[in-house]
Amino acid sequence: MIKGTTQLLGVIGHPVKHSMSPVMHNAAIATLGLDYVYLPFPIAPEQLSSAIDGFAAIGLQGFNITIPHKQTIIPLLSEISDVAQAIGAVNTVWWSDRGWCGTNTDALGFMGPLTDLTPSSERDWSQTPALILGNGGAARAVVAACHQLGCPEIWVVGRSREKLAAFAKSWSASQPNLSVHLWDSLNELLPQAGLVVNSTPVGMAPKVDASPLSSEQMARLPQQAIAYDLIYTPRPTQFLQQAADRGLMAIDGLEMLVRQGAAALEIWTQQTPPVDVMRQALCAHLALSKKS
Ligand code: NAP
Repeated sequence: MIKGTTQLLGVIGHPVKHSMSPVMHNAAIATLGLDYVYLPFPIAPEQLSSAIDGFAAIGLQGFNITIPHKQTIIPLLSEISDVAQAIGAVNTVWWSDRGWCGTNTDALGFMGPLTDLTPSSERDWSQTPALILGNGGAARAVVAACHQLGCPEIWVVGRSREKLAAFAKSWSASQPNLSVHLWDSLNELLPQAGLVVNSTPVGMAPKVDASPLSSEQMARLPQQAIAYDLIYTPRPTQFLQQAADRGLMAIDGLEMLVRQGAAALEIWTQQTPPVDVMRQALCAHLALSKKS
């Protein structure tokens, strides 16, 4: 119930109407019995600065950030975390006595399902080279995560020599294990990869029959490799179906979405987030959107 004491959280973007964050956060808030509400705020790029001032004026507790504000918000914040600095983007902001502070929870979100595996599979990340397909914004969070996991090599594959060079340069000192490659190097890299991540939009609805790898390329991966797709709809993507057909472990992007949200909620409320409730809310929402 919204009362005189209810505190505000939200997500900013342009557009923001497709964001699933309100569904997952409001489900978590209800389960925790917190006096908060989480709202979508559509904010045009030219309004970003005044929106942030307005948020401070009305006492908003914190917010998530989606496209196109993840980078442009940085100069408007008082402080950003090292991980957000390394990724070059902020997805979570909270109010403190120093002003607006920002971090990026995507790397934590990405790592969630991988670190869950560690105790049972005895997976040794120091023996797991990572192959990242794509060199966009999400790939940056994946690089930070693979570094934190301790992957010995991080190979980033892209289609533009110029963008790859800029990507490599932006990490140079902090990531000695990172190297960039054009798509035509894939056949050499695949047999050595322990983790292959699709961070391109290839395979997303409506082009659900597309995959960044051919079946022949998927066959080059070692049997113990993990295929991880950041896409969460459809479930499974063609890429993960190919991996499952080969008997490889397959992880989709839903868990990353849930875990990055859970990490943000924990920052704002200092409470342990109900991850299962957040996951169920998202799954139910996705199932409903599929029907309509
Ligand atoms: P982005 O910044 O636009 O980057 C996309 C990357 O994919 C770029 O490197 C782009 O190459 C490459 N690419 C696009 N189309 C391609 C094609 N046909 N063949 C080969 N490469 C192609 O997007 P992003 O924010 O990184 O997001 C990437 C994917 O991750 C999206 O599907 C997004 O939904 C998903 N994602 C999921 C989560 C989650 O929580 N699960 C979080 C973030 C993102 P160029 O630079 O050469 O164009």
